[in-house]
Amino acid sequence: MSTYLDHAATTPLLDCARDAMVGALGSTGNASSLHRAGRASRRRVEESREVIAAAIGVTPSEVIFTAGGTEADNLAVKGLWWARTGQDPARRRVLASRIEHHAVLDPVHWLGEHEGAEVVWLDVDSEGRVDPGQVRAELAAYPGQTALVAVMWANNEIGTVQPIGEIAAVCAAAGVPLHVDAVQALGSIWVDPTLPSTLAISAHKLGGPLGVGALIARRGLELTPLTHGGGQERQVRSGTLDVPAVMGFAAAVDHVLGDLAEQSARMAGLRDALLAGVVALAPDAIVNGARGGTDARLPGNAHVSFPGCESDALLMLLDAAGVEASTGSACTAGVPEPSHVLLAMGVDPVIARSSLRFSLGRRSTAEDVDALLAALPAALTRARRAGQVRVSAQMAAAVREGA
Ligand code: PLP
Repeated sequence: MSTYLDHAATTPLLDCARDAMVGALGSTGNASSLHRAGRASRRRVEESREVIAAAIGVTPSEVIFTAGGTEADNLAVKGLWWARTGQDPARRRVLASRIEHHAVLDPVHWLGEHEGAEVVWLDVDSEGRVDPGQVRAELAAYPGQTALVAVMWANNEIGTVQPIGEIAAVCAAAGVPLHVDAVQALGSIWVDPTLPSTLAISAHKLGGPLGVGALIARRGLELTPLTHGGGQERQVRSGTLDVPAVMGFAAAVDHVLGDLAEQSARMAGLRDALLAGVVALAPDAIVNGARGGTDARLPGNAHVSFPGCESDALLMLLDAAGVEASTGSACTAGVPEPSHVLLAMGVDPVIARSSLRFSLGRRSTAEDVDALLAALPAALTRARRAGQVRVSAQMAAAVREGA
């Protein structure tokens, strides 16, 4: 049995979600069909929508089902852009934080490259926090010219929680919609869905099934659809709904929001023990992200740089020892890229490439932390040795080239 410390990537399906899905898998009926079977499917979808809306505190018509967080983010970013520039072509500016997940980052880049959006990347401080003052200054300097602002609720790599209340107030005062990616936050900390104009959520990050999520969009908010077809989901997201997945999603949201405070406190306790243990074993380790109180970072997130190690080597050594973690950043052609999040925080690229994320979930236990701490010393020794061999080989090659 391996030790799973990658709950931020995906977390196991909750029993209640599996039961809800298994119950629905045997029934036929397109939720858009008018006959009895279709109406029964439609009823299951609408009941699920009501459960999700009630659990998170919005009205059911504000829940637009999608095929996950990525689609919800794309719908918000591009849908708001097209709607807002359609209303007023002068609104060509898009403000987004440098540390967004690629599901926001890439559509924003795309709008810049293909739609002539003027993209303003919002900086973060050394703990990965956006400054609401920068948002205020950018909106005030170009009145009437911003299509949307995008700042995530909590970062998927380093777990830093953003000052969304303040940023939402600034955006509301300027009359500019704010999109918030709450994929990592919902089910982990309290999320106030009334603050932003749109909120992206995803089932598999909170114990629901893969491939289903939602965009919570304020009533009356105009969004241009990305997909066209049957006109489902307020005409903005055409496509036949996956009824069992939607039911599993609803069961999971209802469950995790039911005992949120208790679970968050439990996870934060485990996370603190994990970090204390790691730093005791590797005193030169650098803990990344917010250092402030418990509200400042996600309770299940621990992100650490191990100077002298390559993160991919450490990851594979830990994996071989039965501990599953994540580098949190992409790999291009087999070469680990330093994370854009860490670079935005001012972390040295070499240090950035020595980082691992350990993320805890509802099933995590003190034994999981112990297993990591037992496997870490040997993995660190071997990863450091591999790092030295690589550096020596690079130096030898440089000397040969120079000769
Ligand atoms: N946004 C954040 C912050 C995420 O962590 C992820 C997934 O890792 C996504 C969006 C994408 O969600 P999904 O996997 O449901 O497409």
